[in-house]
Amino acid sequence: MKEDPSDLHPDTIAVSAGRPETAPGAPGNQPPVLSSIFHRGPGYEYGRAGNPTWDAFETALGVLEGGRAVAFSSGMAASAAVLGLMGPNIRILAAEDAYYGNRSYLKRLAEQGTIEVTFVDISDTGATLAAADGVDLMWLESPSNPSLRIADIEALAAAGHERGATVLVDSTFATPVLQQPLSLGADLVLHSVSKYISGHSDIVMGAVIAPDELGAERLREQREMTGGIPGPMETFLALRGLRTLPVRIERAQQNAMELAHRLADHPRVEKVLYPGLESHPGYEVARKQMTGPGAMVSFLVAGDGAAAEAVCDRVRLIVHLTSLGGVETTIERRARYAGEKGTPENLLRMSVGLEKLDDLWSDLNRALNE
Ligand SMILES: *Cc1c(COP(=O)(O)O)cnc(C)c1O
Repeated sequence: MKEDPSDLHPDTIAVSAGRPETAPGAPGNQPPVLSSIFHRGPGYEYGRAGNPTWDAFETALGVLEGGRAVAFSSGMAASAAVLGLMGPNIRILAAEDAYYGNRSYLKRLAEQGTIEVTFVDISDTGATLAAADGVDLMWLESPSNPSLRIADIEALAAAGHERGATVLVDSTFATPVLQQPLSLGADLVLHSVSKYISGHSDIVMGAVIAPDELGAERLREQREMTGGIPGPMETFLALRGLRTLPVRIERAQQNAMELAHRLADHPRVEKVLYPGLESHPGYEVARKQMTGPGAMVSFLVAGDGAAAEAVCDRVRLIVHLTSLGGVETTIERRARYAGEKGTPENLLRMSVGLEKLDDLWSDLNRALNE
């Protein structure tokens, strides 16, 4: 691997980190290495333990986050690896509106009696700290899903450390382009690579970033033992997506900011939840710890759940389905899932993509007015 100076701008790192050694005739991109067997020597032996495609992706993501990245087969496999490593009999304090899959998994483990979990509103620093005594792991997510709550990562990490807790931040909505939790004091960063990082809604993958090689090595061991490994082809696509992450985020965020403002003025919209609006309770903290508010916009449609669902049925350009972080704008009503009990019935979560703003607005505006 080439030297990856982390003092470069993230836009440059995304393009240049994790490229193969320059040698005459060598490929300029890391190709997907589709082999489960490797001749013995330094580096690789068997496909569950290592693959050059992982290394290229992990180098690039690690430099972007300011740590060491370890890739997994999904965001949930990444979560499972962290929880497996932390061991049973731990106490976890988790964001009450953390990603649905993680919340369900924590609840399942608690039911089985292997962990204790308390859910809190992590945008309320005081309430979070009041619940943090004796906690081994703080599971933060910021911005959170789907209310886009903002946790004060620096304050919570410092207070968590005073109490001897490990502090994890699920930074999927922010990506390393907008937020680097390790620099704010977090111990671990979690990503669903399926979303913005790969960016084209065509793969499922995850990653955990540790601050140092020791932490990464433990995660790699866990991955090797439990087998949550990404395929080389997926990893290749994830790296290809990561190369354009900064420009995709820039464009999507511009669209999101403008749509958030227009929605806020729309008579059929009750409320907009977007950390880039001054009306958002996390606005100040987001400005402090993020370089931008991102491209996820949630809003409450005036009326009930059916009124909101009707908007989803009426959009034609915007795609009505779950998931986020792709080039296409997607929308969905989170409360239609049984697990989303705390979510307002009329809340729509929109992942703003790269289409031309005016086309997005005419679709959304028509769907709201019809
Ligand atoms: C999708 C998602 C996950 C889970 O990741 P998968 O890749 O789907 O396993 C975790 N956290 C957040 C915030 C997500 O959006």
